[in-house]
Amino acid sequence: MIKVEGVSKNYTLGKTTVRALENVNLQIEKGDFIALTGPSGSGKTTLQNIIGCLDRPNKGSVEIDGEKVNTLSKNRLSEIRADKIGFIFQSFNLVPVLNVYENIEFPTMLSSKKLKSSEKEKKINELIEAVGLSEHWNHKPDELSGGQRQRVAIARALVNDPLIVLADEPTANLDTETAEQIIALLQSINKEYNTTFVFSTHDGRLLKYANTVYRMKDGVLELNS
Ligand code: ADP
Ligand code: MG
Repeated sequence: MIKVEGVSKNYTLGKTTVRALENVNLQIEKGDFIALTGPSGSGKTTLQNIIGCLDRPNKGSVEIDGEKVNTLSKNRLSEIRADKIGFIFQSFNLVPVLNVYENIEFPTMLSSKKLKSSEKEKKINELIEAVGLSEHWNHKPDELSGGQRQRVAIARALVNDPLIVLADEPTANLDTETAEQIIALLQSINKEYNTTFVFSTHDGRLLKYANTVYRMKDGVLELNS
């Protein structure tokens, strides 16, 4: 479903070159629930940005749903992001003036999949229920706790039925107990809907929820065994 082959990424800052990714190979199949772990600066964000078509590799290839994405135009990459990738961020990135329902609805306006408005409404309401926010559907982000905000972001990431959801340190701004609840929620969505997730974390306690754990160090990816 997603194939990362021989991917390297360098960043050049003046005269120094940082090797953010070093010959990374990774295959992701439908229904996978993958954790990426490793110290700060090891390349977790860079790898997720490349899979999410937010950044391009210097070397190697990335194939999403049978399409090689390395050489595509910026416009085509935004279409792929809108239709095929769901994003969850550590800082939630909700729109402050929109309520829970409207935040979840937002990505449907960017997608090329056009649902009838009755279907769309049904879907958003189902997602609100799935993440446990039925009583808060009309609250604004600043009226919600961190854990509740991340639940909104999870529903938002799912609304266009993406091929994959990428969650970059989704629990970094949450307390330990809430962090576990959020990863357990991703796990239950993975089990119930077979949604494919990749999340990164440097919290070892969260790795037990994943089906596969990869460890990164200095841009190198290894299966954690
Ligand atoms: P992680 O998410 O594991 O903390 P990153 O992928 O953010 O790691 O970073 C990997 C390496 O690439 C680090 O050395 C980081 O400083 C460097 N890096 C990441 N993004 C940039 C950038 N936009 N410009 C320069 N260096 C970067
Ligand atoms: Mg990071």
